[in-house]
Amino acid sequence: MYNMSMKSPNRHEPMPVKYWSRAGLMITDGCDAACASCYLRCTPGRGRWMTVETAVGIWIGLARLSPHGCRVHVTGGEPFLDWQRLIDILHAAAGEGLHAESVETNGGWAIDDAIIRDRLAALDAAGMEKLAISADPFHQAFIPIERVRRLAATTEEVLGPDRVRVRWRDWLDTGVDIQTLSPQERDTVFTEWIAAGRDRINGRAAEVLSHMLPLKSPETFAGQTCREALPRSRHVHIGPEGIVTPGVCAGLSIGRVVAPWEDSVRNLWNEFRENFADRPILGRLVEKGPTALLPLAQEQGLAVPQLEHGFASKCHLCWVMRNALAGTGKFADELAPMSVYTE
Ligand code: SF4
Ligand code: SF4
Repeated sequence: MYNMSMKSPNRHEPMPVKYWSRAGLMITDGCDAACASCYLRCTPGRGRWMTVETAVGIWIGLARLSPHGCRVHVTGGEPFLDWQRLIDILHAAAGEGLHAESVETNGGWAIDDAIIRDRLAALDAAGMEKLAISADPFHQAFIPIERVRRLAATTEEVLGPDRVRVRWRDWLDTGVDIQTLSPQERDTVFTEWIAAGRDRINGRAAEVLSHMLPLKSPETFAGQTCREALPRSRHVHIGPEGIVTPGVCAGLSIGRVVAPWEDSVRNLWNEFRENFADRPILGRLVEKGPTALLPLAQEQGLAVPQLEHGFASKCHLCWVMRNALAGTGKFADELAPMSVYTE
């Protein structure tokens, strides 16, 4: 059980590691899209899934980690690719008194009104609070925009406007159908969109979109630590293999949870709290930020051609350095899952 002695002896002194009070349960890394912005590099070729027992076990473990519980959203990949499993997970969680804050989808399954209404009724009965729909030019290169518009409109009608979130609503309202544009016109839309700064330049976004942004030297990011994004973040994602990622720092691993889940979640959080500063990658990121990975790469004798071109952001720099370090195979405990580093 949670031990009060874990708290700082001085109540005015903040704990160095926050409880995970918001989590994304990524029940699969399979997807019917392969968005240019996908920091997980999901693709139709993949498809690892959590079992119902694993998903609910991890969910219970998260809920019991702190006295304040944990708000969980169910995500992927695309969780609707295995509808039966998704609804089974939500029902099993509801049986434990747990309800999803939201379920995220790209809306590719919303091919007609009857399917949408059936599924919304089932999601509602299973206690889902909100449906979160992804919509931007990168998603719409794969998912027809009319499906997303239909899903958003029907969800508003059935569940009410407060129970649907479209990220990004302004994209749906533009009237652009990216699938009808020429490659040049599409690139123009992508460039304008990425310049708005809504996407993290990590994973596939780093590989295929970063050249559309102004690039800066690594020194630009000196001193930008990741303390807030790592130990002081309350937000984690947990993938189909049980790997716990801080926030949306895809490809970074705090560790892996295994059965028995409740003990494992608590033990992992405790370990992280005790030794994050000593970890070769995470410790450097927390203390100094991604520029601290440059000397580590040099020690490993790694050539990083991108250094000559520069970086779109601190996270882009982080991604490039981690990608190079992951290739050595020496940091597999912290640079995982490897699927994030390979197409
Ligand atoms: S961003 Fe979402 S919809 Fe796009 S490939 Fe990744 S998981 Fe799939
Ligand atoms: S620089 Fe790296 S660790 Fe820091 S917030 Fe960005 S992706 Fe996360």
